[in-house]
Amino acid sequence: MQVLDKGELRLMDFMGGDMSVIRAARVSNDENPEDASKGREKDKKLINYLMKHQHHTPFEHTVFQFYIQAPLFVVREWHRHRMASYNEVSGRYVNLAPIFYFPDRIRVPADTNKQGSVFRPGNPNVDDQHFSGLVQEASADAFRRYEELISIGAAKELARIVLPLNLYTRFYMTVNARALMNFLSLRSADDAQWEIRQYSLAMQGIFAEKMPMTYEAYEEFGYGNYKGSNQGKA
Ligand SMILES: Cc1cc2nc3c(=O)[nH]c(=O)nc-3n(C[C@H](O)[C@H](O)[C@H](O)COP(=O)(O)OP(=O)(O)OC[C@H]3O[C@@H](n4cnc5c(N)ncnc54)[C@H](O)[C@@H]3O)c2cc1C
Repeated sequence: MQVLDKGELRLMDFMGGDMSVIRAARVSNDENPEDASKGREKDKKLINYLMKHQHHTPFEHTVFQFYIQAPLFVVREWHRHRMASYNEVSGRYVNLAPIFYFPDRIRVPADTNKQGSVFRPGNPNVDDQHFSGLVQEASADAFRRYEELISIGAAKELARIVLPLNLYTRFYMTVNARALMNFLSLRSADDAQWEIRQYSLAMQGIFAEKMPMTYEAYEEFGYGNYKGSNQGKA
């Protein structure tokens, strides 16, 4: 699915689901794997119990592999999530393409959160067109410099240093459902940067589709310090 102006999120692979969580949890009582399900109601109750009491390890038995195209500044935040595996296109090997993120609306500093920003339509001091023009000009100029450096013989790994943070990159992320919930709880929240939040909300939709019982429990009881709420809902 498309995220931002040119970004992408694809679920490439998936292993497990709600039943994997249930099987992993019920092995504690030496249950036969074939009879792990006790019917929808009891299974759901078990998943709720696990989430409520933060018995999170059974959720590690489900794994998602995503393919993502996102701007570098988003990926910088993304890769802080260490409980996942990553592989990314290398600017040392390939000529980078001029695919840049161009936000069409400017955001201004938030009054309440020093890190944050807000959309403020109608503010006469803020001109979306001027903002977009500056970003596009800077990106095109930087890319011209990048090509120039390559043309005079600079190595790709060096030429790339002039490129800006709004350049798109591509990577794989393989993550278990527990670490994914940690990611979603932090990055779908209102205080996350708007751009990474869009990716997080998209992943949240996939999570809800693939693990409906777990997702409901996550919404009701939250993950870790995140206590569940409407935050993060698209
Ligand atoms: C709104 C927001 C603002 C942020 N601002 C900043 C900022 O200003 N500066 C900055 O540097 N970062 C910032 N971050 C990044 C943040 O500090 C985390 O690095 C990031 O959210 C990853 O979270 P995590 O460590 O829980 O995830 P993961 O790395 O995926 O870890 C998952 C869990 O595993 C456990 N774990 C992982 N590694 C260790 C370890 N080494 N030791 C013990 N337990 C471990 C922890 O329980 C952790 O919660 C911000 C994040 C958010 C959401």
